[in-house]
Amino acid sequence: MGTVKIEPAYCPQNHYCPVISVCPAGAIIQKSPFTAPEIDRVKCTNCGRCTRFCAFGAFQMS
Ligand code: SF4
Repeated sequence: MGTVKIEPAYCPQNHYCPVISVCPAGAIIQKSPFTAPEIDRVKCTNCGRCTRFCAFGAFQMS
């Protein structure tokens, strides 16, 4: 299993992140609709679900 990361350059940073609601661990944080989301490493289980939901491919498994 890899580690999920967010690539801010792929995120338009102009909307509420819809991927927040699909994370089963509540590990995605977004300080404002105008910033890219961040991952709470303590909560994240690297399940990879977020990588399948972002339309821009901003969540990546490495
Ligand atoms: S890998 Fe899973 S637990 Fe981690 S941020 Fe993505 S959906 Fe949430």
